[in-house]
Amino acid sequence: MLAYTYVDKGRFELLDKPRPTIADDRDAIVRVTLASICTSDLHIKHGSLPRAVPGITVGHEMVGVVEEVGTGVSSVDPGDRVVVNVETFCGHCYFCRHGYVNNCTDPNGGWALGCRIDGGQAGYVRVPYADCGLTPIPPSVTDEQALFVGDVLATGFWAVRISELRPLDTVLIIGAGPTGICTLLCALLKGPRRIVVCENDPVRRRFVASRWPHVVVTDSASCQACVLAESEHGGADVVFEVAGGADTFRLAWQCARPNAVVTVVALYDGPQVLPLPEMYGKNLTFKTGGVDGCDCAEILRLIAEGQLDATPLITHRFALSDIGRAYSLFESHADGVMKVAVDCSR
Ligand SMILES: [Zn+2]
Ligand SMILES: [Zn+2]
Repeated sequence: MLAYTYVDKGRFELLDKPRPTIADDRDAIVRVTLASICTSDLHIKHGSLPRAVPGITVGHEMVGVVEEVGTGVSSVDPGDRVVVNVETFCGHCYFCRHGYVNNCTDPNGGWALGCRIDGGQAGYVRVPYADCGLTPIPPSVTDEQALFVGDVLATGFWAVRISELRPLDTVLIIGAGPTGICTLLCALLKGPRRIVVCENDPVRRRFVASRWPHVVVTDSASCQACVLAESEHGGADVVFEVAGGADTFRLAWQCARPNAVVTVVALYDGPQVLPLPEMYGKNLTFKTGGVDGCDCAEILRLIAEGQLDATPLITHRFALSDIGRAYSLFESHADGVMKVAVDCSR
């Protein structure tokens, strides 16, 4: 089978590899139908993720059909269409039992697929703990509708869940890349009074403005004034920092009203400064971290009900045999690309 592979720092190659086989009785083998490319894949490519293992097949955002299951798997059967979760989790440890699946203590717990073990930009993928890592796709939901459920959409959903967003809040989302837009889609489910999206790329600002015309778009230079004008209590009630830029963490807490919740979804390249004397008395709550991807069934239900639709993010489509071109496009941000869908049957 074809498998897009992390060969060495700076180098991914499409290689011919043997199909994966069941290695543990809780494994499943999934025939990948659609995969996508995530910014984290680029971090592997550029060598900025030291725990990524050279030689592994990359890709952690995919949907497919169960081909084979181990004897210990009970929730999916061969032939089921499934979403693959970005996170591997055992379902039994302290953290899994409390829904903190990102902190699963299993040696393969957390983000393993396409980083430490073979992932899914390939014809087939082995999924450990398949009862936890696979979620059946309802018949009325297409592969494209389900493609982002296991990673970027799970991230937006989790961020909104922990943000304590209430109806009629004023919300600020910093960053309108794929994760920022998934956060926007999930925030809309809560019925906020106003959403302000801050993004410096004019193409991405237009992307938001044209699809969600009731959302206010701004850039970082105008953001604070814009949020003040749109809020009733001197700042945003809820802030999502999804950009991870040089100054966006500061912007996030500066735009928050006193006693707001600031949820940091972004992954930064370096340490950030928390200037406590400056923010003294503002009584902010910060929430941070990596997605706990345990809401996939709920997200799929919302998609099936027509309440959630991330397909506008798919701006380009490629065959797996042409995935190198998909990476070039995704990496260059050219041609208004937001997300790509890679057909792994071709
Ligand atoms: Zn990802
Ligand atoms: Zn666990």
